Amino acid sequence: MSSKVLVLPGDGIGPEIVDEALKVLEALDTGADARFEIERAPIGGEAIDACGVPLPEPTLERSRVCDAILLGAVGGPRWDGLAREIRPERGLLALRAELGVFANLRPAIAYPQLADASTLKADVVRGLDVLIVRELTGGIYFGRPRGIRAREDGCREGFNTLVYAEDEIERVCRAAFDAARRRSGRVCSVDKANVLEASELWREVATQVAEEYDDVELSHMYVDNAAMQLVRAPKQFDVIVTSNMFGDILSDLASMLTGSIGMLPSASLDASGKGLYEPIHGAAPDIVGRGVANPLATILSAAMMLRYSLDAADLADRIERAVASVLDRGLRTPDIESPGTTVVGTREMGDAVAAAL
Ligand code: NAD
Repeated sequence: MSSKVLVLPGDGIGPEIVDEALKVLEALDTGADARFEIERAPIGGEAIDACGVPLPEPTLERSRVCDAILLGAVGGPRWDGLAREIRPERGLLALRAELGVFANLRPAIAYPQLADASTLKADVVRGLDVLIVRELTGGIYFGRPRGIRAREDGCREGFNTLVYAEDEIERVCRAAFDAARRRSGRVCSVDKANVLEASELWREVATQVAEEYDDVELSHMYVDNAAMQLVRAPKQFDVIVTSNMFGDILSDLASMLTGSIGMLPSASLDASGKGLYEPIHGAAPDIVGRGVANPLATILSAAMMLRYSLDAADLADRIERAVASVLDRGLRTPDIESPGTTVVGTREMGDAVAAAL
């Protein structure tokens, strides 16, 4: 039986990198029956241009009935002038919320072949394998009230609400503890409990959840220290669990440990394991259409999709091995190039991974 995959290419480099991931999935489809039934739908700026909204109803309906979703990226300067409620990024936030994909898994793995591509010393990053579990459907990105209002004296103020309920914290902590069980069994919960009440509750709930996991060791760290430690000695971490905004920032930081944001995949899972898979980077308007975007984060997101939602860990392993072998051959997109390597474009990188399968 084939799996229904909904593909949302989105904006900017989204379509370029998604095409390469599809090429790789196609290369796995060697049998008589196709394993993947691919359907495309618009989201973000593309959807605004076509239907006036960043998340059209038909896209949402299709995302509910498919087995997994593979997304490129949304956004770009072209839509930056629109009202906040109808900007491309709102489409993605709404999709995540509608699907209830609360656990965002962001592995940051420093491939040994790319140790020289990181801005940090090779010794600091070589062998790094951190999993950041970011809460994705709550916190300050969704809290209400929010807005920009005028004070009585006419001066405007922007305001947002940081709110976390116990059940929201509990379920994402469980996702992190479950993941840690399959790794080296350590979870670091990152918060700002010295200043924020929402973080104080976060720490309390994380500690309660830890009591159910005898085999997992829990530590706590303030987010400012975590940012420093990730740069100072990143290999001290195994699994990091944190809130939406802290996870957003720390995972971008972690991307540079691996060499480039173009290397980091992600999976966003709901309670049943259904997921939305996307690279952690954005639409990269500065390089769109130049054929230089790194497609590996999206290709590795497709591998995560096979592992977590499509019950095909063997195929995920094959993709990951193919990526490693292409890096072994010295092929690099410009974002990860280093002396002595061969620079290739987006398509050549996709072709090489597909061929390596
Ligand atoms: P970005 O991630 O798009 O780009 C940051 C930098 O990384 C840029 O220099 C870009 O060229 C580079 N980069 C990103 N992906 C790359 C890749 N695959 N290969 C090589 N280089 C890559 O972040 P930004 O510039 O802050 O945002 C651009 C737009 O994307 C904005 O409209 C933003 O709202 C949107 N955005 C979307 C998402 C998403 O769809 N999940 C995430 C972040 C930003």
